Amino acid sequence: EAKKRGRNSYEFYTNTLDRQSLKKLKMESELRTALDRGELFLVYQPVHNLCTGQLQGAEALIRWNSRHFGLVSPADFIPLAEETGLIIPIGEWVIRTACRQLNIWQTLGQPIQSISVNLSISQFYQHNLAGMIESILQETGVHPSHVTCEITESMTMDTDNVAAVLHSLKSLGVSISIDDFGTGYSSLSYLQKLPIDTLKIDQSFVRDIAVNESAEKIATTIILMAHHLGLHVVAEGVETAEQLQILRDYRCNAAQGYLLGRPVPPDEFFPKNFPVSL
Ligand code: C2E
Ligand code: MG
Ligand code: MG
Ligand code: MG
Repeated sequence: EAKKRGRNSYEFYTNTLDRQSLKKLKMESELRTALDRGELFLVYQPVHNLCTGQLQGAEALIRWNSRHFGLVSPADFIPLAEETGLIIPIGEWVIRTACRQLNIWQTLGQPIQSISVNLSISQFYQHNLAGMIESILQETGVHPSHVTCEITESMTMDTDNVAAVLHSLKSLGVSISIDDFGTGYSSLSYLQKLPIDTLKIDQSFVRDIAVNESAEKIATTIILMAHHLGLHVVAEGVETAEQLQILRDYRCNAAQGYLLGRPVPPDEFFPKNFPVSL
């Protein structure tokens, strides 16, 4: 009896695996042509300066509206894009689209200074990332000081290559931000070696900042450390007024989160009736 059940559950297991790898194959082939079909788009989440209360910028976040799978989360297709190398054309498209959008907003006189884009580790191995970004800046008329490249803390462990590319990005004049700070399991020594401008406190610490003393201590210590190092600090995932107040009290420079604004398509980012001044 046990043997029979064992065999059944084995078959069930392999069937499940097959279905998963088939889905992955299908997703890969769909992703290959998603850009050409216009299925990828960017949504923008506001970043507010906590000192002035004003909007300072937006983070561009990718979305995939697949004809086959429907809306796919970046958490599900960015790893696949990295595995297949598709992140190279997709990543370039993200930077170009975000820069074009910033230029449109600035031309319309909308009150926004900067745009942030997320970079993958594979992009640090592509030929001449800084040159590619430089061309996009020229083509779109965006000033380099208005662009921030977000990298995750784990990418800093790949020190030699990442340091060289980050220095070339810094010479272009774009800013560098460490995303999901505090979750990367990496030593802090990179903070001395790499040309970093901003730390983004991971949303896991922000989520518990008002209810859990150790999360509050971690978040506020990150703010103090960033300021001692002369870095800016942005809090991610702010959902309540109480979280925002604590971050303000500790002089966190900026914040992002559902409380201040969800990621939205560009035509919803500013109120429709905003006076257009060309
Ligand atoms: P991230 O860069 O850390 O982005 C923050 C994520 O938190 C976004 O998820 C955002 O929608 C979500 N978020 C913002 N505010 C709140 C909040 O108040 N509460 C909660 N619970 N969540 C909030 P999203 O858009 O699903 O993106 C997930 C991750 O996918 C991003 O994390 C980033 O690592 C990656 N990603 C997104 N777009 C791109 C891209 O263009 N290129 C690359 N390489 N990665 C991207
Ligand atoms: Mg980010
Ligand atoms: Mg993050
Ligand atoms: Mg994240």
